[in-house]
Amino acid sequence: MITRFAPSPTGQLHLGHLYAALFARDLAAKHGGRFLLRYEDIDATRVRDAYYTQIEEDLHWAGVKWHEPVVRQTSRLSSYQAAMEKLKSLGVVYPCFCTRKGIQRELDNLTRAPHGPDGPLYPGICKQLTQHKIDTNILNGSEPSWRLDSEKAQELTGPLSFSDGRLGKQQVIHHLLGDVVLSRKDIGTSYHIAVVVDDAFQNVTDVTRGKDLLESTHIHRILQSLLDLPEPHYYHHDLVCDSHGKRLAKRDNALAIKQLRSDGETLATLQAYIEKNCC
Ligand code: GLU
Repeated sequence: MITRFAPSPTGQLHLGHLYAALFARDLAAKHGGRFLLRYEDIDATRVRDAYYTQIEEDLHWAGVKWHEPVVRQTSRLSSYQAAMEKLKSLGVVYPCFCTRKGIQRELDNLTRAPHGPDGPLYPGICKQLTQHKIDTNILNGSEPSWRLDSEKAQELTGPLSFSDGRLGKQQVIHHLLGDVVLSRKDIGTSYHIAVVVDDAFQNVTDVTRGKDLLESTHIHRILQSLLDLPEPHYYHHDLVCDSHGKRLAKRDNALAIKQLRSDGETLATLQAYIEKNCC
């Protein structure tokens, strides 16, 4: 068994991250497996150097050890590029020149916009662009993002499922998140591409992560099928909430491990808090 903890060095680790790290570490340990660390650092606009060191310090403090080598996604960009090329050659992605504002304008004009778990889905504005229009946009200096054509993907993969250690067998819903962006115009890739390519690269057998990522797993199974990558087992565990029942988020700097450590909290106290405040 191989599990992994895959934080983004874009902020302080909080108790939710500690829970995720301990969960993955303990599962691997229980099965005599290996536990890996991976930095999901593709978003250069948000990554800060100091957070890499901070993450390792926090994990050391919590007694979490990982097997080397540590993977940084910024060193793997050419693999993500290759995956995108394959998706392009399969015809399951299309270029999208929309801005956020343009998408919002279109949604405002629609009487019935399809919705996903996080709100309205991309209304497909660029899906029917002619090759001529695409070429003209690019010639005029517009850089596209690339979106999954969820309909075509469904035609190609047929029915898919994944197994979740808590929820059991889950049927993949190809259009659950709509035509998601797989290659952002600013960074040339996306979380979805990087995570499936790297879970395969690191031979991860069991992907454990918070249940807020359950919907993303539908996309990940589609990508694994299209890219001929192995299918890992999944376990989507609880999240950790604050005392108001609100899920911890990096932007609140809420219950950051660094702060709790300097307040003199022990690992045992933090684990007790996590156990009481799972949500
Ligand atoms: N980088 C993600 C996070 O920090 C984890 C993604 C994953 O485990 O697939 O929430």
